[in-house]
Amino acid sequence: MSGLSIGNVKKSFGAVDVIHGVDVEIADGEFAILVGPSGCGKSTLLRMIAGLEDITGGQIRINGRVVNDLQPKDRDIAMVFQNYALYSQMTASQNMGFALELAGAKRPEIDKKVGEAAAILGLQPLLDRKPAQLSGGQRQRVAMGRAIVRDPKVFLFDEPLSNLDAKLRVKMRAEIKALHQRLKTTIVYVTHDQIEAMTMADKIVVLHGGRVEQIGSPLELYDKPRNIFVAGFLGSPA
Ligand code: ADP
Ligand code: MG
Repeated sequence: MSGLSIGNVKKSFGAVDVIHGVDVEIADGEFAILVGPSGCGKSTLLRMIAGLEDITGGQIRINGRVVNDLQPKDRDIAMVFQNYALYSQMTASQNMGFALELAGAKRPEIDKKVGEAAAILGLQPLLDRKPAQLSGGQRQRVAMGRAIVRDPKVFLFDEPLSNLDAKLRVKMRAEIKALHQRLKTTIVYVTHDQIEAMTMADKIVVLHGGRVEQIGSPLELYDKPRNIFVAGFLGSPA
């Protein structure tokens, strides 16, 4: 099966259980959003998918392959972080090409891939700038470019817009949607912002206290919230 499958996944930090057996199926090419209040376990779940955090129990499959014990670089994923995590001493172009360089790619191939990503993201005039010379939105585009050049099966985004002002946030939502339509990859996107979830997702997974409250399309969740938490959180009449 292609796409992403999360089966009875659990996570404890020491004696503290933070994810209590989560089941989610995300189809190939689907834009899935994990939404829920701060501390509900969104980042932890995403980091387990990425391989940045051990899995205490259960199974994660990417395109049918169990990835529990695979290194992040072997999972066919790329992650975009909230704080962009760019290298401050490198230019935009170097930031985007660095992972390919580490993986042993040759210069012409790196330049080609960086050029393609820059074209998609409108970054061509900014390639020689360092992060300090870029705006928040431009930095976010470089962070996305760094993910795109690796041509992953699955993109993981952790609150990528939360450091941007409201106006730019709305613009970047549309850009990320357009990017998804263009690349047709699977996306797992974490946010605590209900509007972001309702306007961007094919499928919303509502998390609360390390458990799934409900999974459905934005319309399904709005029309038929399963309980008062989902109704309240997504702002629909219960
Ligand atoms: P969210 O991203 O939804 O805000 P997190 O996944 O960051 O939530 O955190 C879920 C819970 O796990 C929180 O209670 C948090 O304090 C706890 N937690 C996260 N990372 C660690 C860690 N490295 N050690 C101990 N507890 C952690
Ligand atoms: Mg988080």
